[in-house]
Amino acid sequence: MTNPAPAPALVELKAVNKHYSSLHVLQDINLSVAKGEVLVVLGPSGSGKSTLCRTINRLETIDNGSITIEGKELPKEGRALANLRADVGMVFQSFNLFAHKTILENVTLGPIKVKGMSKPDAEKLAFSLLERVGVGHQSAKLPAQLSGGQQQRVAIARALAMKPKVMLFDEPTSALDPEMINEVLDVMVELAKDGMTMVVVTHEMGFARKAADRVIFMADGQIVEEASPEEFFTNPQTDRAKDFLSKIL
Ligand code: ADP
Ligand code: MG
Repeated sequence: MTNPAPAPALVELKAVNKHYSSLHVLQDINLSVAKGEVLVVLGPSGSGKSTLCRTINRLETIDNGSITIEGKELPKEGRALANLRADVGMVFQSFNLFAHKTILENVTLGPIKVKGMSKPDAEKLAFSLLERVGVGHQSAKLPAQLSGGQQQRVAIARALAMKPKVMLFDEPTSALDPEMINEVLDVMVELAKDGMTMVVVTHEMGFARKAADRVIFMADGQIVEEASPEEFFTNPQTDRAKDFLSKIL
């Protein structure tokens, strides 16, 4: 009798390398993210965290290696790539909302254009997501009329509207005033509790301790440590990680 094949990881990187000319920014990255897992990516500035995120949804190409989503290789272009991008939601440090569109339009645009959803259906979905992230009453406003924390929550709703399989967050609270950080982290904690698969680059150690299933620590384009948050924060193994933690804790 043959065993059934194991379920593929939701996101899998195998021996991924990337250069920016002579800079070897991702060095033989092997990483697997399981469905429902919350992976927090830590590391000093310049270690390759953003590049890692951007390769996962093909905002950046890789030199070699493979990246799969549910076992499927990333398409290179065209409609297949648009669909892949829909599977991988991304939230950036700078919220990147469309400045001249209302909050509601920011959230409905993707479902209508990429997924072919009808406008009423897209609006229904958008209202429920805006409600979920606590900005339901702001839907008719323009982004600039909202606080940074509210805009970032809209950006999360916008990503969720595509019904992604995984959400990537690249320092989502780094550009926010301190008093707005928690309102965004709270939404992320709720998402994690709901079972969303998440890759989160953050310096918010409270979030990492509370929500991460696993932490990876990057330095100079390599994954240097991989551990549970408890292990990583109480017993980092490398000098690089110890040094990093001494600076941020
Ligand atoms: P992190 O997010 O950990 O701060 P990044 O992934 O942004 O790191 O950057 C890793 C390294 O790659 C840095 O040295 C950065 O200067 C360099 N880098 C990032 N993007 C580019 C680019 N588009 N062209 C050239 N070098 C880049
Ligand atoms: Mg970065």
